[in-house]
Amino acid sequence: MDCLFCKIAAGEIPSKPVYRDQTVLAIEDINPQAPTHILVMPVTHHANIGELSDAADGPLLAHLMEVATKLGRERGRDGYRLVMNTGEDGGQTVDHLHVHVLAGRHMTWPPG
Ligand code: AMP
Ligand code: ZN
Repeated sequence: MDCLFCKIAAGEIPSKPVYRDQTVLAIEDINPQAPTHILVMPVTHHANIGELSDAADGPLLAHLMEVATKLGRERGRDGYRLVMNTGEDGGQTVDHLHVHVLAGRHMTWPPG
């Protein structure tokens, strides 16, 4: 499959991993939008959060959020932001589910 994050998970494209286990991988974002900007993704291919929900893989979804939350807690000063851009209107550019973990600065709202 021609998927950037599948290739990263397979080690075919280099990345800066910050966490890995059997089902979840976390890497540094190549274009960080905050002092901490990590992408947490399942090792298996799911295009977006809707597809993972459809797959009804509750344990994987829970584990993904558990890892994202742990990294946010560890890297954040007084909070952090988790983002899942989904689909064209959601601003998703890589169609392999990932959670952005943003931390280390004060975030504003609403996002653009
Ligand atoms: P999204 O727009 O929500 O799909 O997020 C995709 C993210 O992947 C963006 O924040 C990009 O900066 C990031 N990105 C793209 N290519 C790479 C790469 N090779 N390694 C790490 N992060 C990447
Ligand atoms: Zn993929």
